[in-house]
Amino acid sequence: MGEITVVGSINVDIVSFTNQYPNRGETIFGRKMVTLPGGKGANQAVASARLGKTVNMIGSIGCDLYGDTMIRALKENHVNTSFVKQVNNTSTGCAIITVDHTAENTMLVVKGANDDLTSKDIRDAFSKINNSKVLLVQMEIPEEAVIESMIQAKNKGMLVVLDPAPADGITERALHYADLIVPNKQETKQITGIDISDLDSAFQAAEYFNQIGVKNSIIKMGEKGSLVYQSGNTEYIEAIQVKAMDTVGAGDSFAGALAFALSDGTDIAAAAKFANIVAALKVTKQGAQAGVPTIEEVNKFCE
Ligand code: ADP
Repeated sequence: MGEITVVGSINVDIVSFTNQYPNRGETIFGRKMVTLPGGKGANQAVASARLGKTVNMIGSIGCDLYGDTMIRALKENHVNTSFVKQVNNTSTGCAIITVDHTAENTMLVVKGANDDLTSKDIRDAFSKINNSKVLLVQMEIPEEAVIESMIQAKNKGMLVVLDPAPADGITERALHYADLIVPNKQETKQITGIDISDLDSAFQAAEYFNQIGVKNSIIKMGEKGSLVYQSGNTEYIEAIQVKAMDTVGAGDSFAGALAFALSDGTDIAAAAKFANIVAALKVTKQGAQAGVPTIEEVNKFCE
């Protein structure tokens, strides 16, 4: 049984690499294209599992080749896929990602089968899950499924970590059940209206979250590091200087690593420091899942 339970999206990532983005109506030639397993849910599940935890994945895929391939990728990383359902007449979720020469990316997501995950699916899965310590959930599935998973996890005494991504249209009700949220700069702005330009603005956003009932937050600021806010106490964690190669999935590896450490009972600030190392190592490698380091690689880096 998984020490960590992840509820979320399972996508295929179709990633193209280009020197510049095309303008609207324009055709340009990119450098290369790769097809990779992705989806915030699957990425985070794989991150926790590659580091060495047992992980349950709850999600939904289509009856197509991509669905089968994504299940295989999860299984290869030892993620328990028995709570992943396969639905007819819908495609597996898909993310079309473009990475430019600075390693920044744009992403167009077609939710497909991810939209078919219901509250009943969540209840059925949780009725069979025992002894899981941390729930990790994101917003690439219907909000009702997100909320149901947080209610179920709370009932089982689990720690609820919400990655509020994408934050577009997220309601306060969804935030309400989270013990800890981990938004990036853009998501923080969408939810709080505050532009994250420095530590002061990150602190203001964390205070906003506290006021609406989310006592703990980690505001992720890419290569500028992150601000950890724990019931009023703050700590700034500087990003580790690395040569960024692929930032797709940086936040997912951060969340998976965070759950890894939290499931051992580690305190939030210490867990965030561990996640900061894992995410930095991830951005030096390509692939939201394949780029996540193993615990041996993390230990070697820390020597
Ligand atoms: P998301 O991927 O969700 O948009 P961020 O871009 O804020 O989130 O990145 C998440 C975390 O990954 C950061 O808080 C940091 O720890 C790490 N990270 C991201 N980009 C870099 C980078 N260029 N160098 C080092 N660490 C990075």
